[in-house]
Amino acid sequence: MSQPAENTKKWQAVALIRFFDRKGSYRKQSMKIRFLASPIAAVFFVLNCWAQNAPASTPPPNSFLERLTTLTDSDSGPWTAEQFATMGRIRDAAMTDPNAYNMLAHLTDNIGPRLSGSPQAEAAVLWVAAKMREMGTSVTLEKTTVPHWVRGKESAVLTVWPGMPPGTTQKIVVTALGNSVSTSADGLTANVIVVSSFAELRSLPVDEIKGKIVLFNRLFDKELTAQGSGLDAYGQNIAYRGIGPSFGASLGAAAVLVRSLGSGDFRLPHTGLTLYGEGVDKVPSAAITAEDADLLARLSKQGPVTMRLTLTPKTLSPVSSYNVIADWKGSEHPEEVVLVSGHLDSWDLGTGAIDDGAGVAISMQTIHLLQLLNIHPKRTIRFVAWMNEEFGVSGATTYLQEHASELTHHTAALESDLGCDHPTGLTFFGTPEVARYLTPVANALAPIGASVLTRSDEVTAEDIAGMVQLGVPGLTPSQDSRFYFNYHHSAADTLDKVNVQQLNENTAVMAVTAYALADASEVIPRRK
Ligand SMILES: [Zn+2]
Repeated sequence: MSQPAENTKKWQAVALIRFFDRKGSYRKQSMKIRFLASPIAAVFFVLNCWAQNAPASTPPPNSFLERLTTLTDSDSGPWTAEQFATMGRIRDAAMTDPNAYNMLAHLTDNIGPRLSGSPQAEAAVLWVAAKMREMGTSVTLEKTTVPHWVRGKESAVLTVWPGMPPGTTQKIVVTALGNSVSTSADGLTANVIVVSSFAELRSLPVDEIKGKIVLFNRLFDKELTAQGSGLDAYGQNIAYRGIGPSFGASLGAAAVLVRSLGSGDFRLPHTGLTLYGEGVDKVPSAAITAEDADLLARLSKQGPVTMRLTLTPKTLSPVSSYNVIADWKGSEHPEEVVLVSGHLDSWDLGTGAIDDGAGVAISMQTIHLLQLLNIHPKRTIRFVAWMNEEFGVSGATTYLQEHASELTHHTAALESDLGCDHPTGLTFFGTPEVARYLTPVANALAPIGASVLTRSDEVTAEDIAGMVQLGVPGLTPSQDSRFYFNYHHSAADTLDKVNVQQLNENTAVMAVTAYALADASEVIPRRK
């Protein structure tokens, strides 16, 4: 290949990386500031409640009691003692009501995997809409167009490797990436090149890459995950799944494999979306297990390794689907909205229990608790089950277009999309003043161990990210992510991974916060 052509291809690859750096870097540059709702604040809160019921007397100017009263007033924020009592009732009901788990069980066991465009996704839309009508909300189905990709057969076998017993093959555990094109029905047979980075592949002569199966063998940082920063570990590698196939194709690869983005050691492949770059050949793309990636790395150091890769997915015509929107109307300011949400679509390998049936169930349960306890906050609490987060966020994009003029009246947007393990508190995407505003709410969540407020500059809940960019304060429960990426996007994302108590704790965080924001005398500070 001539030198100029080679350079052009390399530049295309560089452009792709830049594109994905903008789209896919999660929390790399995020600055997290943690605010602990302190026991001292809790004492002030109790004193404040006591002071409100105590006989009126005028303390001497600048007395200790006056200063204490000033402090306690600011500590209770824009909520009355009665509203704190309501937060307590919501929290306690969330911890004992079995409905969130039952709804999640129906969504996952009875309806099943909910890939965008699938009959199960449609069934889920109708079921959620019916449930929300039962809860007394006003329901709208908001039409959105979604891709319709269908997984086919998938297999990978080694046909040549150093030291192989004659006449044998060796199985590699593989799953197609969402959006992948197919190989021929008989599969594609080629030598495998193993690299650990974009830079390493780019450093190879193009002739060496041409026609090969490229494996991006980028290690998932399990130490980071074990410390509770699973999303950061995921964010570090997501570009390899997102643009690795187009990057490889731009340098002549015939197919691209990525080491699964997952922290488990169960020889499970984890799927996810890949995006094909414009003007670059679309090549078959798949994820293999971490164990098989290690195997290929070891064998390829010893000599040539040949693989037969068979993937037969199909991309059908896009279809219409829906966001399910359900309003629990505000009693004083129905036009003002506090949004609670999760995404209804899932990947097809498991049943989408932790990603993100849980987020949908937690948000549905928020409305159910308001109905159960007959609570009607000042502002509207809007439940949204987003369609198609996994395959391009089209539901959230449609919502932004359809509700552009209403966003100034969106007081806050919440989404739960990091499973449902124990929440340590709330993560907010907003100005630092939000922490002070939320401290009394965090205190109400302290009895379930969910009182830590964390600020993040990167919006980690994809469906509300657009709204947050436009100034709407965004929040999410701060879920323990140590185990989430063991199962995420794999066949093991099933109901048994859900701990009922922890699911309920997440519901308590979502429901208490939504109520507090919807009933406060003063709204949460907006982003500037
Ligand atoms: Zn998700």
